[in-house]
Amino acid sequence: MTKPRVLITGGAGFLGSHLCERFLADGYEVICMDNLVTGALRNVEHLFADADFHFAHQDVTEFIHVPGRLDVVMHFASPASPIDYLELPIQTLKVGSLGTHKALGLAHAKGARFLLASTSECYGDPLVHPQREDYWGNVNPVGPRGVYDEAKRFAEAMTMAYHRYHGVDTRIVRIFNTYGPRMRLNDGRALPAFMSQALRGEDLTVFGDGSQTRSFCFVDDLVDGIWRLLHSDEVMPTNIGNPSEMTILQFAAKVLELTGSRSRIDFRPLPQDDPKVRQPDISKARRLLGWEPKVTLDDGLRRTFEYFRERMGVVAVAR
Ligand code: UDP
Repeated sequence: MTKPRVLITGGAGFLGSHLCERFLADGYEVICMDNLVTGALRNVEHLFADADFHFAHQDVTEFIHVPGRLDVVMHFASPASPIDYLELPIQTLKVGSLGTHKALGLAHAKGARFLLASTSECYGDPLVHPQREDYWGNVNPVGPRGVYDEAKRFAEAMTMAYHRYHGVDTRIVRIFNTYGPRMRLNDGRALPAFMSQALRGEDLTVFGDGSQTRSFCFVDDLVDGIWRLLHSDEVMPTNIGNPSEMTILQFAAKVLELTGSRSRIDFRPLPQDDPKVRQPDISKARRLLGWEPKVTLDDGLRRTFEYFRERMGVVAVAR
């Protein structure tokens, strides 16, 4: 019997690598495509021994050729942290626009189902709280985050156009803050920053007064939600995230407690356009997919901490 085949763009990234594992476990042949700008072979090295895993070192903004059949295209390639957008603004815009176009064109040519990794950043600095899928957002197109937000909004529009005009079978997931093993230690996002600072005995850099909120979802829960969305009939964007909201200061305190670190808080300026609040309304995912997150913050942080400790080669936490 021939196995179903999936292409995962950004497959060597944080989320992409977890998806590669999920598809392999489900009996798929997996083509992992990545230009390794923010992804890393280390994330998928353990999969190379599997005959059903293939790696293509390619930039998805260029013409993509994948020989043979494809049943699913998962478009996850993109820089995904605010400091990456600052360093790679044009690549971020290109992968969201040209890259999405190429990936959709491929899905169309192969008759494959297409799933776009979109984002809560589509809601910008939201004026509606919590965020439901029918909220159109409050995005500054010309600010430093605009390169990501607008690229993903364009990607959603392009996905819907391919669905409506070409009849491509599409799905759109709006991903809220997610954490877990294989985040880059230096990607600048709150969790990797706080954990590596705590492990090094450095003070935790909280931006602004730390009163801005986020809602953090463990990667296994996210992958389960994406999996269910892919296998559902829902074409319109669907939020997947953990609705348990907290301030960034509370989050920093949680990391200090978990790591047993004696580091303090070092307040730094708030980056431009940093959303003041963020919390997914997941009623739609609950209703249509029967999905909700299961991993508690304590469990998720503990599992992530193990990964960071191992990567940093830290034997004892600085107390
Ligand atoms: N943040 C922080 N210190 C850091 C990194 C991030 O206080 O070292 C804040 C950031 O300003 C934002 C929140 O933590 O309010 C989440 O930031 P992250 O970059 O993880 O993701 P975002 O939700 O902003 O995309």
